[in-house]
Amino acid sequence: MNPGGGPWTWKKVSVLHPPVSMEEGRRQCSGAIRSHVYRIFAFESSLYERCVGLSWCSACRRYVGGVVHVPRDEVLPDPLAGLVDEERSKLTRSEHRLLDHLDRLIRQGRWPGADLADPGNRPQRR
Ligand SMILES: [Zn+2]
Repeated sequence: MNPGGGPWTWKKVSVLHPPVSMEEGRRQCSGAIRSHVYRIFAFESSLYERCVGLSWCSACRRYVGGVVHVPRDEVLPDPLAGLVDEERSKLTRSEHRLLDHLDRLIRQGRWPGADLADPGNRPQRR
């Protein structure tokens, strides 16, 4: 499904899967919505609690993103944990790239939550 006919890329929208409007006359997508929240500031920063929250649908390749507030003491799952720093920063610099990566993890069944029970199983490449 590629309604735009353009390159198969992520499209940022203000609302994911909005109610179908008369105007658009398009069927609402039934794809599952996934979310990921990650920190962009260092622990020492006073802005540490300001995180980026992404939600996306792999079926229609639409996503929403914005700043979310997560308390300092809350530990966020880190799907990029196995990556080297360089790779990590490359992904976090581009929302599209990050979404591609996360989407791949989901398809491979490597999404955090699925493997949290056995965290020692990841290869350490540092
Ligand atoms: Zn969708």
